[in-house]
Amino acid sequence: MTLRSLSLLVSLALCTPLAAHAIEFTPQELARASTLQHRLLTLDSHLDTPANFHRDGFDITQRHDHNALSQVDYPRMVEGALDGGFWAIYTDQGDRSAQAHQHDRDAGLLRLTEIREMLAAHPDTFQLALTAADAARIKAAGKRVVYISMENASPLVDDPTLLSYYHLAGLRLLSTVHFANNEFADSATDPKGAEWKGLSPAGKALVDEAVRLGIVIDQSHAADAVFDDLIERMPVPFVLSHSSAKAIYNHPRNLDDARLKQLAKAGGVIQVNAYGGYLIDTAKSEARKAAETALMAQLGTDYDGMSIQQGVALKKGLEEIDQRIALRKATLDDFFAHFEHILNVVGPEHVGIGLDWDGGGGLADLPDVSQLPKITAWLLRKGYSEKQIAGIWGGNLLRVMQQAQDHAAKVAAAAKP
Ligand SMILES: [Zn+2]
Repeated sequence: MTLRSLSLLVSLALCTPLAAHAIEFTPQELARASTLQHRLLTLDSHLDTPANFHRDGFDITQRHDHNALSQVDYPRMVEGALDGGFWAIYTDQGDRSAQAHQHDRDAGLLRLTEIREMLAAHPDTFQLALTAADAARIKAAGKRVVYISMENASPLVDDPTLLSYYHLAGLRLLSTVHFANNEFADSATDPKGAEWKGLSPAGKALVDEAVRLGIVIDQSHAADAVFDDLIERMPVPFVLSHSSAKAIYNHPRNLDDARLKQLAKAGGVIQVNAYGGYLIDTAKSEARKAAETALMAQLGTDYDGMSIQQGVALKKGLEEIDQRIALRKATLDDFFAHFEHILNVVGPEHVGIGLDWDGGGGLADLPDVSQLPKITAWLLRKGYSEKQIAGIWGGNLLRVMQQAQDHAAKVAAAAKP
């Protein structure tokens, strides 16, 4: 089982009892929020849902709730007023051998193909978005928005020139690294610590090429030294597609206030995450770990190999373990503590939503995308204007994309003889 799979299990144990003071909304507040949200363009910047596309039994047009493997599908997107977002080509970091790099190259291309196949199979419900303006046009046509992103650039180590192919195929957001250092950058969470002190020479070349193509750079998962390199190097703003606040929970995946302010000053945006292990301390007891390992053994496959039917058994198994060995699970209260802090530090023009759905995100009282109006209800309760809420739900992120694409067009025009 990978580190990622273990982390997923932390977040997928969804039935931990909520604290007595847990935030609640009236039916009137939720109805008002839902109406507003349906009208606004709503995007989540980190959907790991493509990891489900190959699973036996997964059909994005069908509802897959009560399932530990799925938090996003078309029916629940409609119910929760989520228009779409950035659908990730995620690659687990390999051992960095030549063989692993070739495997990562192929895995990335395969995931890209699966996203394109999903789009081709459902032309009436989903559509590929390529420019910042595309999202509103696709929503107006009654469809869901699919921007393509890459989480971890390891598929590009074997052949960095593949970036131009990915761009042609629709890639619009790129992160350099994941849980461990790679050839491009230092990770925020590699137990070995810094290897490059930020971006490597290859990482700098990759970022420059992405900027030239108009691809937005995503700092999530990279070490703080990479952030500092991006601030120095980037001629356009960048984003963090799914990260939270170090001042609220001191985790290396979160950003400190000084860097939050630098990000906003540079015009960037932080999309606040709902990954439990970055919001609060969700460390598990040895007994809990043993029970989860036994459950996985009983299911007889690793996380990636599970069918959607096994996801039902996994959810039931985790709920049964919750009854015996309680686990502190992050709630909306924990999420709003990060969200409010970040809003206060950088202002609503530099904040967005990236909840890590189908990648370990979600909260005890926000288990899937069907309940997203709770976030809008909170923003309304706090007095944010419709314009500010529209920015948070996607406008701010698209502003950064527009700047990246405008810059690329300008550079391309200047290069013409
Ligand atoms: Zn992630």
